[in-house]
Amino acid sequence: MSDTERSAKLFDRASAVTPGGVNSPVRAFRAVGGVPRFMASGDGCHITDVDGNTYVDLVCSWGPMLLGHAHPEVTAAVQAAVSRGTSYGTPTEAEVELGEEIVARTPVEKVRLVSSGTEATMSALRLARGATGRAKIVKFAGCYHGHVDALLAQAGSGVITLGIPGTPGVTEATTADTIVLPYNDQEAVTAAFAQYGDQIAAVITEAAPGNMGVVPPSNHFNDFLAKTCKANGALFISDEVMTGFRITRSGFFGLGYDTIAPDLMTFGKVMGGGFPAAAFGGRADLMSHLAPEGSVYQAGTLSGNPIATTAGLTTLRLATEDVYKKLDQTAETVVRIVTSALGRNGVPHRTQSAGNLFSIFFVDSADGVTRPIRDFTGASAQVLPRYAAFFHAMLDNGVYLPPSAFEAWFVSAAIDDDALATIEKAALVAAKAAAAVEN
Ligand code: PLP
Repeated sequence: MSDTERSAKLFDRASAVTPGGVNSPVRAFRAVGGVPRFMASGDGCHITDVDGNTYVDLVCSWGPMLLGHAHPEVTAAVQAAVSRGTSYGTPTEAEVELGEEIVARTPVEKVRLVSSGTEATMSALRLARGATGRAKIVKFAGCYHGHVDALLAQAGSGVITLGIPGTPGVTEATTADTIVLPYNDQEAVTAAFAQYGDQIAAVITEAAPGNMGVVPPSNHFNDFLAKTCKANGALFISDEVMTGFRITRSGFFGLGYDTIAPDLMTFGKVMGGGFPAAAFGGRADLMSHLAPEGSVYQAGTLSGNPIATTAGLTTLRLATEDVYKKLDQTAETVVRIVTSALGRNGVPHRTQSAGNLFSIFFVDSADGVTRPIRDFTGASAQVLPRYAAFFHAMLDNGVYLPPSAFEAWFVSAAIDDDALATIEKAALVAAKAAAAVEN
């Protein structure tokens, strides 16, 4: 067991001044139990907590740290930028360069910078509604697009239901225009358009969902959505906040699985290089509806902040094809190590990937066959205590995994052979711990 005395003390202090002791819920370890580790530093593929325990990091700040922590070139660029002042509230050159980099890497023609993925999806929805003059939005159960009120909706009991608020504080009026459908379900989409077609402003989906564990699109679901939207005068919004600039240099779209450019896209995480930066973009004619060119209002005091844009731009410029090749290889190796340990210990599981983004579902089945997980219902059928046991054994043996079974695992380009050896050793212990948990 690692020493957690200082983390525990900080957690007590944090709980006295912050709800649940954290500033974003999953950090509290509620899904796996135990003391959340308070980190003090990061270096390459490692993070070190306040008690001095060092972990191989497979969360990477939930995606942004593609190159690893404290990358020397990113750090130097940020330090130089800080010394020139931290915010002016005026346009800067770095914003232009980051915009150009995003436009060069992705199908979007124009881009607007914001500070979080939540802001990006919220603004993209407003733009879609403003541009189409329609109100309804289609989203998929299990996809997370940040804590935008209208997107914090859960489906009712039927297949096509108007959303009911997924959390207190979101009113029924706010989600009344949100239609929640099962992911990967083309029939449900067709039926929703048959019923509400002329009222639907947009369909929003994660390009490859990673927020219910990784559930990749099947049967070219994104292209199907793009075509269905086009046929009905609606817009297709692909949320690449998690996958963008991570899976390939242009995100999930860059894998070539989809061929139709989305009308609008959202980005975040990697493009901020560990600072708050995100973006939404799309066709130039649609983006021209935004103020000051058009009448759809959207703004931000710190949008395009010079430090965040510098960190993001430096990160993207360092994220070359070689880096993506290494990320793919590393992800494959980690999957092989973990599945082999679980297999050897007879722990039922299923691995699903979208490029280098992957997760391991601790699913069981009566006949011993693990089938593809295609939607949130499938993802929810996990034996959660098994993941909790696996997670804690990994943690105690120096590997930091997402503290929830419903999250993707993230690799960085800084993971080296020593880190892989640590993961392998930990996985053997953790697989035994998972095997000891009865279903
Ligand atoms: N969209 C997706 C696909 C995400 O995974 C997230 C966050 O995890 C968001 C949007 C929201 O981003 P942020 O947490 O920066 O607001």
